[in-house]
Amino acid sequence: MFYSIKAKIITLFSLVMISFTALLLVTIFINERENILNLELKKSSEISNMHANLLSQEFAQYIAMLEMQSDDSSLKKNDPDKIKQILKRLMKVGNSNFVNAIYVDQNLNLVDALGNKNKVTNPLFMKNEQWKNKPYNITVPVNTLFEKIPVIIVAVPVLNDQDKWQGTLAVAVPLKTIIDKLSSIKLANGSYAWLADSNDLVVAHPDPSIVMNNRLSTTENPNFPGFYKIARQTKLQNNGYGHYYDTQLQESKIVTFSKIKYLPGWNLFVTTQEVEIFRGIYSIVYSVLTISIILMIVFLFIISQLSNKVTGPIVRLTKDVKASVTAKSNFIRIIHSKDEIGALSKAFSRSLQKIHHHTTQLEEIVRERTQEISSKNNLLSEQNNKLEVLVSKDSLTNLYNRRAFSALVEKELSRAKRHHVSIALAVLDLDHFKNINDKYGHDTGDKVLCRIASELTTSMRKEDLICRWGGEEFVVLLSASTSEKVYEHMEDMRERVAAMDFSPASQVTFSAGMSTYREGESFTEWFKRADKALYQAKDNGRNQIVKG
Ligand code: GH3
Ligand code: MG
Ligand code: MG
Repeated sequence: MFYSIKAKIITLFSLVMISFTALLLVTIFINERENILNLELKKSSEISNMHANLLSQEFAQYIAMLEMQSDDSSLKKNDPDKIKQILKRLMKVGNSNFVNAIYVDQNLNLVDALGNKNKVTNPLFMKNEQWKNKPYNITVPVNTLFEKIPVIIVAVPVLNDQDKWQGTLAVAVPLKTIIDKLSSIKLANGSYAWLADSNDLVVAHPDPSIVMNNRLSTTENPNFPGFYKIARQTKLQNNGYGHYYDTQLQESKIVTFSKIKYLPGWNLFVTTQEVEIFRGIYSIVYSVLTISIILMIVFLFIISQLSNKVTGPIVRLTKDVKASVTAKSNFIRIIHSKDEIGALSKAFSRSLQKIHHHTTQLEEIVRERTQEISSKNNLLSEQNNKLEVLVSKDSLTNLYNRRAFSALVEKELSRAKRHHVSIALAVLDLDHFKNINDKYGHDTGDKVLCRIASELTTSMRKEDLICRWGGEEFVVLLSASTSEKVYEHMEDMRERVAAMDFSPASQVTFSAGMSTYREGESFTEWFKRADKALYQAKDNGRNQIVKG
């Protein structure tokens, strides 16, 4: 698959797309991370300032309520009934924000809205100087005798007509009221506000187990690595921020803090999970990634279709050219496009047609030439055969001539040896043949020669050989189991020739010398014995066969 251009294009495109998307996302993340963090810190600082202001206003209201009542002239007269009325009025205007209202005179005699009368023993109220000289006082949360729950005491001094301190008017604000006010303000997901008093004790927190139990630590706490730096900042600055890691929740958090105007030494904190800050960017990354993947799939589909259009014809052309090279096909499908591929396919097609045309012509020429050669070969072999006949046969009698016979004798000799049969040679000479020519003419002599040759051939067996040795002489090669049988056969031939009618010419006979082949002798020696026997036959009176 990866050897095709199409696959290469698609793979390359996918890689480019993936790399581009990844690069885009990384760039966005790097660029935006710092911006978002700064924005979030700013927002968080504003929230803690706002909360701090709200709390301040709350306490400012309480102080204003107290100041209004402390100016009441009946209070200055130290009338217990009047004091009771003022305390009740305070509870009323407090609108359930107070659990108690208290008046303490300069002799530390306490009366409250609940009807309690007591001598103050709480060290907080013992320090008269502190209460006398300040326009207001707000305590850290305390557990008092009457309220039974942690409360914050807000107090103002009561001055007599001579502007001398005569006592303290106070309200007890339950810590819960502050906690509720803090939690009633909606914050972003993963953010929460909390309070630490001037003793660094956590007094308000969404987790109740922490409230009144934990203190800010200015030394490293292994549970909250990094938080001590924020705690140290609170000692030096009105506002600030920092990071820390919550090992229990395994979360990175950012914290901003603000001082509260009416609560000196207190700090309002807003904590936010870092993951929440980046939730926005994560969702952007997720959206971009999803859109990229969808776009990529769409692009891949389009590219695949496009590359099919581009590479399809190339693949088809390659196939056709391959097929034409391996001679499976001799035509190329022409691609009708105006680009290079169309031109290439036309060029290939034209070349292939030319090659095909030339090949056909060449094949035709070769076929014609082959036919010509073959017919010439036939003629040649015919002529060769004729020549062979001419060379090996006697033209008058059509018998083998001496040359051909000599060649054939060698073959027959080895065959007889192989088969262990007797082989004999007979030299025949017509008796007084000259007289025939003389009496009836040479033509008649020729006819006689021919007829005798024919008769001798007919009376011979297939395996025997006969030749015209020359003139009126013939040589016969005969094979048989014994030389006697050969002789009998020759005798039979002699009788048949002697019985032939050549009228008007007279009877023609022949004399013959016969010799059976002796192992080891040459043809010449063998022939000489037969020839000698022929002379013997002539001498003995002709028309007979003599064995040599
Ligand atoms: P003999 O019994 O002693 O053999 O007597 P002959 O006459 O046959 O022998 P001679 O050798 O004296 O003569 C042979 C004759 O054969 C001579 C020749 O005229 C004749 N002859 C040889 N060849 C041919 C031929 O091709 N045609 C014809 N018509 N005659 C031939
Ligand atoms: Mg002769
Ligand atoms: Mg003769």
